[in-house]
Amino acid sequence: MTEPQTPAPQAGRPVVFRGGTVLTMDDAGTVLRDADVLVVGDRIAAVGPALEAPEGAQEVDATDGIVMPGMIDTHRHMWQTAMRGYGADWSLTQYFVWYYLEHGRRFRPEDVAAGNRLAALEALEAGVTTVVDWSHGLQTVDHAEAAVDALQSVPGRYVLAYGNIQAAPWEWTADKAVQAFLERRRTGAGDLLGFQIAFDVTGDPAFPEKAAFEVARELGLPVTTHAGVWGATNDDGIRLMHEHGFATPETVYVHAASLSPDSYHRIAATGGSVSVSTESEQSAGQGYPPTWQVRAHGIPVSLSMDTSVWWSGDLFSAMRATLGADRSREHFEAHLKGDTVTQLALRAQHVVSWATRGGAAALGRDDLGRLTPGAKADVVLVKNDASPASFPLLNPYGHVAFQAQRGDVHTVLVDGRVVKSQHRLVGVDLAAVRREVEATVEHLRADMGEDVWQVGMDPELPSAEVLDNPYQYTDYRSETTHAAREEAFERHLSWER
Ligand SMILES: [Zn+2]
Repeated sequence: MTEPQTPAPQAGRPVVFRGGTVLTMDDAGTVLRDADVLVVGDRIAAVGPALEAPEGAQEVDATDGIVMPGMIDTHRHMWQTAMRGYGADWSLTQYFVWYYLEHGRRFRPEDVAAGNRLAALEALEAGVTTVVDWSHGLQTVDHAEAAVDALQSVPGRYVLAYGNIQAAPWEWTADKAVQAFLERRRTGAGDLLGFQIAFDVTGDPAFPEKAAFEVARELGLPVTTHAGVWGATNDDGIRLMHEHGFATPETVYVHAASLSPDSYHRIAATGGSVSVSTESEQSAGQGYPPTWQVRAHGIPVSLSMDTSVWWSGDLFSAMRATLGADRSREHFEAHLKGDTVTQLALRAQHVVSWATRGGAAALGRDDLGRLTPGAKADVVLVKNDASPASFPLLNPYGHVAFQAQRGDVHTVLVDGRVVKSQHRLVGVDLAAVRREVEATVEHLRADMGEDVWQVGMDPELPSAEVLDNPYQYTDYRSETTHAAREEAFERHLSWER
């Protein structure tokens, strides 16, 4: 880095960010210019101009930068990060076949741990200080222990959403060992670790998932569910949840993309929230990214990245993709009616709010997602003096949503602790994590066999025909006839041979 080295951050020392543009994300949406943020212990102590800092406070120069709350991802399958990028060209069907039917069982507890540790570091590095680990690869309690141990080895804030795609939800939630695990690991875990129950509702009229909801209720844990996923979950699931009283304010509906207005009404009326994974919905095909419908129903939104087996793991991408998808749809719908959109409904401020306060609300945490006195000190400084894209800093929300990227994350605090400083993660042995992930990749590759491994990464292309083009053979430059061109093409092919 081009910036001067500062002393390594010391635990327990107050931290003061000096002279930044501060997105407080408070109820009034206050933005302060040339302001300071003071962190004492695990809390925001003060926000404002020229703050007095306690003796020995560590100063962070935030000049020309943006100080904002740590971002919150409400749905990420962290165990899949060990397969980063492998499924870049998958459809949702190919993903289901690969993980649910064919290869998900090959993951050992250490493989889940490897993915989780890498995902946790990736998140922190990108200023994502809270992640819901939608952990549906927990085929045994040993897998779950490994998943939580890995999360707790990286100093971020996590919610383990316990799931298991290898068994029906009413089966694995009935397992006394699973229930005992949840009771044991949540006891004394502190507020850096929370739990949810993660499963999907198929819409079977017998509603067998009822038993799983009951277990979650007994344990006092919220349910998170992939809802409105084209070809997988639909309005029936929402209706059954609602009719049986399991649609609650704590419920997080992931995607909620292929649903009718009736389902959105049921979600809105019961106070639930939707976790939108725009990059995912755009390429996997759960349905059109639903913010344009969800906001019309007054349903709270949070953002998520879903999985790094396909997509990126930072919320700058999520904010940008979500703004683009929402605005595309707004224009598209207007053009169908011959109208022109002259005022955009979704603002940069909205997506920044969804990435921070929206996530906090979905998790029932009003002490996160804002920089206000008393809130938890999860803080991100976006600042990159070496980048020509860092100035002028005119519209701070627009800057975060459209100009900034993960490499611009300069400093990150979680619970008052400096975990990234001067663009570098603090105290992380990335080489060790790399070895761990390489061991997982080697295991999977050997277990699957090289051919199956390669085919999995390179799915077959659909047959595609280029449309007939009526202008194709009209040569406006000469008298060349169609037949003459065909002859020339044949000659060309014979040379190739
Ligand atoms: Zn998902």
